Amino acid sequence: MFKILKKTFDAGLVTIGYPDAPAQVSPNFRGAPGFDFADWRDSRPAAEACPTEAISIRESGATRLVTIDYGLCIFCGECAEADRSGAVRMSGDFELAVRDRKDLVITAGYDLEAGGTQGRLTRLHQGNEPIETDVVALQRRVRHSIHETLGRSLAIREVDAGSCNGCEVEITALNNPVYDLERLGIHFVASPRHADMLLVTGPVTRNMELALLKTYRATPEPKVVVAVGACGIGGGIFGRNYATLGGVDRVVPVDVYIPGCPPRPQALLYGILLAVGRMNKK
Ligand code: SF4
Repeated sequence: MFKILKKTFDAGLVTIGYPDAPAQVSPNFRGAPGFDFADWRDSRPAAEACPTEAISIRESGATRLVTIDYGLCIFCGECAEADRSGAVRMSGDFELAVRDRKDLVITAGYDLEAGGTQGRLTRLHQGNEPIETDVVALQRRVRHSIHETLGRSLAIREVDAGSCNGCEVEITALNNPVYDLERLGIHFVASPRHADMLLVTGPVTRNMELALLKTYRATPEPKVVVAVGACGIGGGIFGRNYATLGGVDRVVPVDVYIPGCPPRPQALLYGILLAVGRMNKK
């Protein structure tokens, strides 16, 4: 008993300050790939190396359109290794959740030069809506939104629609003393009838399609659905095949998409906070 108390006091406070304080991430953490579009001379090696076709190229005459879809990206780093120019680098970015699937897609247009290399950058486009980047302001608004909308804490029902459980490991971490989700008035519940939010992982296997639909229907309004990870967004490495449907929004409407493979706990937290803002609008 005294040993346990001593250990508790010795451990001290381990809960992170995020989102009040900036997130502390390990220097070894691999976030989303970053692209230096203005200086990117050849996107072909990266596109060829990408295992999920998150980087794709379309050419028309003397122009090339390069599309980066973060919803398909599994943060594997193959593109950065294949691109020897230094224009593609893996970053520590994890605050990538968006309300609109289109905002996960970046398109860059180039004039082509001799040998198929890229010349002048003619267009750079990212979805239509601006992405929320001020996490502290977001959290302030979210606390207000939770109380204004619900008059109580936010209840989440997690649905595993056929994931590899990588996302579940990170979601479970939200409840540990380090991330301590309950400090924000957010907790997980066992029944969709008690939930305000569905946090859905996996590419949605055909066996889970009906279960997901029933869970959605059983959740009372106002409700929000959050698609977690590359699989939840677009099927990830499983894609769409005889066994999987290729993403949560093929079955139920999705309000927020959280990219990653899997997304780290702070990325999940960021997406959940973003979704609460969405709930307030419903
Ligand atoms: S990090 Fe993303 S974009 Fe780069 S190769 Fe891997 S899946 Fe493709």
